[in-house]
Amino acid sequence: MIKASLEKRKKITKLSQLPQGASCRAGVLVDKNAGWRNKCPVFDPDKCIGCHQCYMYCPDGVISKKGKKIQIDYDFCKGCGICEKICKTGAIYMEEER
Ligand code: SF4
Ligand code: SF4
Repeated sequence: MIKASLEKRKKITKLSQLPQGASCRAGVLVDKNAGWRNKCPVFDPDKCIGCHQCYMYCPDGVISKKGKKIQIDYDFCKGCGICEKICKTGAIYMEEER
């Protein structure tokens, strides 16, 4: 069983082969947990080149692929800022939570 799973993983060579969300879909969670976030990622689609690095690195799996761009589920984003750090084009930047 494990061997079969590892074999399947080895065949993944493109981002398009990965699911829309990087981990579990946020909708599976029952409690919104963004209330303690003090910074919020802002997404500028005009600067996004669709590399999906933010999707790969978001530790909470709250960035999902949306066509060639991305979308952030703000109900479950904890505001860690990793997406801002990983984005090379400045398409994501952190702002004070309002
Ligand atoms: S890392 Fe930046 S450029 Fe790449 S998909 Fe995410 S927002 Fe777009
Ligand atoms: S701030 Fe952190 S949790 Fe929120 S979308 Fe970016 S990487 Fe994910």
